[in-house]
Amino acid sequence: MADITIRSVTKSYGKIQTLHGIDLAMKNGSFVVILGPSGCGKSTLLRMIAGLEDISSGEILINDKVVNNLEPRERGCAMVFQNYALYPHMTVAENIGYGLKVAGVPKAVRRERVEKIAASLGLANFLDRRPSALSGGQRQRVAMGRAMIREPKVFLFDEPLSNLDAMLRVQMRVEIRKLHQRLKATSIFVTHDQVEAMTLADMLVVMNNGRVEQVGTPAEIYHQPASRFVGSFIGSPPMNFFEGKVLSGGKIGLDDTTALTITADVAVPTPGTPVSVGFRPEEVEIVPHGQAGAHTFTVDMVEELGSGRLVHGTFAGVNTILSITSHGELQQGQQISIRIPVESVYLFDAETGLRLGKNSAAVAA
Ligand code: ADP
Ligand code: MG
Repeated sequence: MADITIRSVTKSYGKIQTLHGIDLAMKNGSFVVILGPSGCGKSTLLRMIAGLEDISSGEILINDKVVNNLEPRERGCAMVFQNYALYPHMTVAENIGYGLKVAGVPKAVRRERVEKIAASLGLANFLDRRPSALSGGQRQRVAMGRAMIREPKVFLFDEPLSNLDAMLRVQMRVEIRKLHQRLKATSIFVTHDQVEAMTLADMLVVMNNGRVEQVGTPAEIYHQPASRFVGSFIGSPPMNFFEGKVLSGGKIGLDDTTALTITADVAVPTPGTPVSVGFRPEEVEIVPHGQAGAHTFTVDMVEELGSGRLVHGTFAGVNTILSITSHGELQQGQQISIRIPVESVYLFDAETGLRLGKNSAAVAA
């Protein structure tokens, strides 16, 4: 059982600062996912929580106790990595039980705990095998068993599914989520994969360039991105963006002939102000020609996905993607009419990238 608090934590390697003041509060028993592009500092942050990396400034607390100077083994965290590095010469049972053996736990007790954990991970029939005789998913489960056997207060996962093929990733995602439901240990899971992040997280932390961009539930992050970066990083395909200018009457001009209406919830900046405008591919509707408020979209290419289609084309002079469930034949060069619901149009500060909300104030992260 553990709450984890991160206060103004920074990290510098020599003169280069990698983390710029991270503040996070993670509740006991929650499943927190840290999502961000490669190099944004996710692993560094996780390793600092585990005690594998020094903290340059700030504090990390586990259950209200500052752990900055505690050894990794004193922190009660177990870590599962992308490269799970099992001992090749040991059996599954020996791999899972190794931590207990080192700790001097008697053989009989060890065997019992190994069997229980192996059973919970679907590995009961593989206890005597070597890792080389296991599939990637089974190896990953052995690595999890090795972490679980220590009954940690905190599980730290660093992209543990990145080496698995697509189908296994989906399976293991479900396994990890089930494991969490059963053990209720606070879990922090680092990934650059937004689908993994959205499906696993109770609380999602989006990082960029050594900073936290936004913290929220997956739904909050999807529907109310705090910044253009979050809007672009969450959602597949990503949000479409346009550089626009505020017109009189509260509309946003994208080019000489295209203007979008903004929801009344947003106090639009004064006319002439440059803004970034975004809408999601899946929130656009194809409508009959001539419908009031419709815009012209020129089709370039259609990608068939089976469950739906991605329509690539041009809108207001900018390459744009629409995600639609079904429609008749669409030809290259064809002009179609689309409707973009007002509530689906997001406005961002052209300079800072922060989303504009009520009273045109930037929406706080
Ligand atoms: P992520 O896990 O999000 O991909 P990392 O935390 O691994 O990112 O790295 C964040 C940044 O810190 C990167 O720019 C990386 O090059 C740098 N970095 C990581 N470890 C070291 C190190 N030991 N020495 C110098 N720079 C490092
Ligand atoms: Mg990493």
